[in-house]
Amino acid sequence: MKTDIKSMNLVELTDYLTVNGFEKFRAKQVLTWIKQDARSFDDMNNLPAKLRDFLNENAYLASANIVRIRRSKLDDTVKYLYGLYDGEYVEGVLMSYHHGRTVCISTQVGCKMGCTFCATGKSGFSRSLTASEMIAQIRSAEIEAGERISNVVLMGMGEPFDNYDNVVRFLRLVTSEDSLHIGMRHITVSTCGVVPRMKDFADLELQCGLSVSLHAPDDESRSRTMPINRRYPISEVIEASRYYVRKTNRRISFEYALISGENDSDQHARRLAALLSGMLCHVNLIPVNNVTGAGYQKSSIKRQQAFVNILSHAGINATVRRTLGSDIEASCGQLKRNFMKGDV
Ligand code: SAH
Ligand code: SF4
Repeated sequence: MKTDIKSMNLVELTDYLTVNGFEKFRAKQVLTWIKQDARSFDDMNNLPAKLRDFLNENAYLASANIVRIRRSKLDDTVKYLYGLYDGEYVEGVLMSYHHGRTVCISTQVGCKMGCTFCATGKSGFSRSLTASEMIAQIRSAEIEAGERISNVVLMGMGEPFDNYDNVVRFLRLVTSEDSLHIGMRHITVSTCGVVPRMKDFADLELQCGLSVSLHAPDDESRSRTMPINRRYPISEVIEASRYYVRKTNRRISFEYALISGENDSDQHARRLAALLSGMLCHVNLIPVNNVTGAGYQKSSIKRQQAFVNILSHAGINATVRRTLGSDIEASCGQLKRNFMKGDV
């Protein structure tokens, strides 16, 4: 197995090179080439041939190459299909808001969590991504868009906290000056509620945003759509969420897909309000996006409004999120693993 040097920080790369008999300052040179998007070690022409040979033999430069692009006709959303070194694919989405560009990246090829409303969950799981593959998705999008990307959300394919170590490595790397230097406050991680990792994450006290996919206010309805709830019930997810807010002083977000007749009654809204009472939080309501085979319908506009009103009256911050890229299957939950494979 070759060494993934794009997942290393300066200290680690320095160690790696010196242990193998090369000068300390070479690490900085290699990182500079990586920053300049070098595609091969042979491009790194200020390195001695011996070092280039060593790297060719023992290391690799991870990439996430855009192999297909779909552009929405409804808004400025762009969906990318990224090809990885082993023939796997992941999807990512570039969104334009008035405050800049946001890229939504994947953390795994597929997902193990099996939420019934999500296309990724239905497409099975193949492997987790490395930190370097997460960074490469952002960088490839920047190059394609010809613009710097200021915001990143880990809301593409996969469950970030099922790939915890690589995700934390990614966060530390991508925010450093040796890499893309994106502000930690401009990054949001989304989880379906892997409680022990939520607590670990809070303990890191990073200024990174956290979004929790709740989608139901009681165990019975939540377990019906999200199998993870049978392992970590709502009370534990909420307790871990309160712990995160206490530790970081940051507002937490909750995602709630409104599904007609499933989780969108007045009673559901009242239960949700009681659950979140007194917490520094925001609720993002998302009329459920269409996923083939899921058999769910969006709540009506009237129900969406009624739901928001109940939350607002109870003092809970809530908004209905605008759906982006619905014509190119780029909305939440629509990304999938085997998508377009035949089309590449
Ligand atoms: N695995 C993580 C992050 C990726 S999913 C998580 O679940 O949080 C990104 C978001 O899209 C999550 O909030 C997820 O619950 C939501 N989502 C999945 N399928 C959806 C659908 N059909 N409609 C609306 N939102 C959906
Ligand atoms: Fe996985 Fe998130 Fe989809 Fe659930 S919603 S299956 S956790 S990607």
